[in-house]
Amino acid sequence: MDFQELKSGILSCRLCWERFGFEPRPVFFGNADACIVQISQAPSKSVSATLKPFDDAGGRKLRKDWYKISDEDFYDPSNFYMTCAGHCYPGKAPGGGDRLPPAVCAKKWLFNELEAVSNKIYIIIGRKAAELFFKDEEFTSLVFADKKINGRPAYILPHPSPLNVKWFKENPRFLRERVKAIENAVHEALGI
Ligand code: SF4
Repeated sequence: MDFQELKSGILSCRLCWERFGFEPRPVFFGNADACIVQISQAPSKSVSATLKPFDDAGGRKLRKDWYKISDEDFYDPSNFYMTCAGHCYPGKAPGGGDRLPPAVCAKKWLFNELEAVSNKIYIIIGRKAAELFFKDEEFTSLVFADKKINGRPAYILPHPSPLNVKWFKENPRFLRERVKAIENAVHEALGI
């Protein structure tokens, strides 16, 4: 499947309509020549409305405080290819929070996207996205490790959402020590 075909396939995908109980709205962004592939769990409800990934408080923290890049660099399709374990907002779970991304989505789309993009590094955001690649490894250890996917450097990040308070409280070392390594890797990959 070539890249254009793949993009059209994702955009028109409605596989989970019945499961969600509403029409799915697939979200992804970027070109096949993007320097960085960024993979997160699934779009939030607000991102599902705008179809613009990380256009929320968590996204602002990610690009301003962690990557330290401008909005223009973040939303340059030759810089970032942004995708998710589940490409569509999955709805609310009965006990609160969003439902988990449907496993079918990564199998059908994500792994094909990873083959199509010629990135330099990977950034994986959040536990559920990390489990796709490092199933048996403990999440917090992954955040502080230099990992590889497809032979290329991979950095694992906690979710930057303002709701993710507990993890940051328990791991102050992330902001003190790890964020600088992420910033450096992003700047090097983008050549800025
Ligand atoms: S979550 Fe993935 S598989 Fe399900 S409808 Fe959206 S794009 Fe298709």
